[in-house]
Amino acid sequence: MAPLIVPEYIRALTPYVPGKPIEETQREYKLKRVVKLASNENPLGPSPRALKALRTGVSQLHRYPDGSAFHLKKALSRVLKVDTNQLIVGNGSNEIIDFLVRTYCLPGDAIVTSQAAFIAYTLCAQIHGVRTIATPLAADLRFDLDAMLSGVQSDPRVKVVFVANPNNPTGTYMKTDELRAFLRSVQAVRDGSVLVALDYAYWEYVTAKDLPDPLMLMREFPNVIVMRTFSKVYGLAGLRVGYGVASADVIASIEKIRQPFNLNSLALAAAEAALGDKAFVSRSRKVNKQAKAFWEKSLKGLGIPFWPSQGNFLLADVGKGLGMTGAEVTQACLRQGVIFRPVGNYGLPQALRISFGTPGENLFALKALKAVRGGSR
Ligand SMILES: *Cc1c(COP(=O)(O)O)cnc(C)c1O
Repeated sequence: MAPLIVPEYIRALTPYVPGKPIEETQREYKLKRVVKLASNENPLGPSPRALKALRTGVSQLHRYPDGSAFHLKKALSRVLKVDTNQLIVGNGSNEIIDFLVRTYCLPGDAIVTSQAAFIAYTLCAQIHGVRTIATPLAADLRFDLDAMLSGVQSDPRVKVVFVANPNNPTGTYMKTDELRAFLRSVQAVRDGSVLVALDYAYWEYVTAKDLPDPLMLMREFPNVIVMRTFSKVYGLAGLRVGYGVASADVIASIEKIRQPFNLNSLALAAAEAALGDKAFVSRSRKVNKQAKAFWEKSLKGLGIPFWPSQGNFLLADVGKGLGMTGAEVTQACLRQGVIFRPVGNYGLPQALRISFGTPGENLFALKALKAVRGGSR
């Protein structure tokens, strides 16, 4: 029998490493309390309205889901003031990223993004034999849009550009003027045949006035798709619901490759309910704002520099602050029951990503960090 052949680009893949699960950490280190601040999840749990919808939905699990996501799309179209044919739903926004690569790229084509951009872009590209052109970060860890534009112009096989705003894991963002100028320039490349994906997973947490509304940009530029998610502020990361917003033309192309039941019926019902849970969203934003202030003040107190963040997390420079790598700090904190996220896989070994928790979780995690600092002196 001939040996099974796996393409080189699949063999070369390094799988995504998710945040360490709480239970595994408890078992491994024999700990009673474990606090996970490693995956930018909502520390308040799922939206209560979503939980109620889930309980109702369970009795209908013998039915197939609504393959057209009729009710969720209707609700999104009302809230976002777009047509339902401008919306596509994905099994997490990660699936939307995958849709874009599969819809627009042939093997050997390329995507453009930045170094230290959300890693799913590169992974989805590589899975389909698509190259990634990742331009260097600017000194302040922001995307270098000029370099990205040169990347788009330099290679005729570039089909999609990914911009996370704000970006994960850096928390940094692009301002209205610079992003608009970038979009204008990209639109001029090869007759507007390069798609720009704006990943706004953290939009609900944004407080900066000069971070642009993505739907405004989508209306201005026909080659723009906006990606959003229910994984962050709505507290539904485990259910996997994301969506894309673009022109009806773009959506029609992507819809062709979507599996009819890519979202299960509970996910559809919960997302629709969560979207209407304004009280929960506003409480989540408030808790996030307080946690951000807590971590900024605490890190300052410890002499650990950090990058200002527009998300529900921030990136601390533990290399400068503690003389340790992010992986070393993570390891030392794990033993005390705190899970942070090292970001060496993003090319930032000196940094540590801290997701914001509840006040109690933040205090517990700070204690661990303080103990590590004491030990490192
Ligand atoms: C968390 C995150 C997402 C969300 O992914 P889902 O698949 O929707 O859970 C998307 N983009 C970025 C940049 C993120 O940090």
